[in-house]
Amino acid sequence: MRAFVAEKRGDEVVRGVRDDFEIGDLGEGDVLVKVGWSSVNYKDALATIAKGQVARISPLIPGIDLAGVDEDSGEEVLAHGYDLGVAHHGGYAECARVRSEWVVPLPGGLSAKQAMTIGTAGYTAARCVIALEDAGLTPDSGPVLVTGASGGVGSTAVDILAARGYEVVASSGKDPEYLELLGASEVITREDAAGDAGRPLEKARWAGAVDCVGGEVLAGVIRSLHYGGAVAACGNTGGVKLPATVLPFILRGVSLLGVDSVQTPIKERTETWRRLATDLRPPHLDDSLGHETDLDGLEDVLSKILRGEVSGRTVVRL
Ligand code: NDP
Repeated sequence: MRAFVAEKRGDEVVRGVRDDFEIGDLGEGDVLVKVGWSSVNYKDALATIAKGQVARISPLIPGIDLAGVDEDSGEEVLAHGYDLGVAHHGGYAECARVRSEWVVPLPGGLSAKQAMTIGTAGYTAARCVIALEDAGLTPDSGPVLVTGASGGVGSTAVDILAARGYEVVASSGKDPEYLELLGASEVITREDAAGDAGRPLEKARWAGAVDCVGGEVLAGVIRSLHYGGAVAACGNTGGVKLPATVLPFILRGVSLLGVDSVQTPIKERTETWRRLATDLRPPHLDDSLGHETDLDGLEDVLSKILRGEVSGRTVVRL
């Protein structure tokens, strides 16, 4: 079968399409999925480069997201996270063999392509929105900031939040037009979101925030939350360090909510997907949010996402 494979050779990782990958080499698992669609996430790109420190097997078929048909039952299914695309062959192939406990039935109202337009990124955006609302955020609370807003997680978060009636401010290093189209009421620069690192607290601007960037930007967001506000932190494209003080926590009672998409228990995961098909559905799934490629186009998209040049989501047609 055809598969996009990343293989370590010495200090290098060689990546590309192969026509002769054996289904018998797909690894352990009790469900064989005929993959229809996958997607491209930042982590997928990291899985194909030597310094990415994501891939745990070699050779590896990357692709942390996949959707297709269970060969045995004929049911449409999706799977993402856990070991997929890092320690177990993932979605960049015509077939994948996965564990049944990783499988989510495709929720009614979403096609396999739409589910992959959402993918891990959109799922993570939804987990961030759920975390913020569980912490008390409502559209009446005030403006919500999304950082790294043009990326997969950020753009889907903007789309979901705007559809739920929030006033969304997007922080981005790119052209504001795309984010305004998704529903952002204002687009600010990364530098504006990062604020003034010399000050322990800044003007209270955000009732809540979804942070895809980490580092100085997350620290600036924490210094600028309203009294009792919260930020859902899910990403590190701007760095893994958090140069913060305790003052916003002890003087403004703000909360830092960690969000992980990889190990969410399957029951919660299935419920989040049910909501992604209904009340958390991103409205721009079929137009501005997604772009399409195939196995032969992957190389280019993986390079671009590492350079921060991709906006929105890219789905992969198998
Ligand atoms: P993308 O590459 O699609 O988007 C990342 C965005 O971050 C870019 O579009 C850019 O947005 C911004 N950015 C890029 N480089 C920098 C930089 N040096 N400084 C500041 N901002 C930068 O990635 P994803 O949306 O797929 O993922 C976003 C982050 O979330 C990643 O760190 C990823 O690893 C993480 N993630 C975590 C998950 C979890 O389970 N916790 C799940 C999924 C993703 P702009 O130009 O608009 O500023």
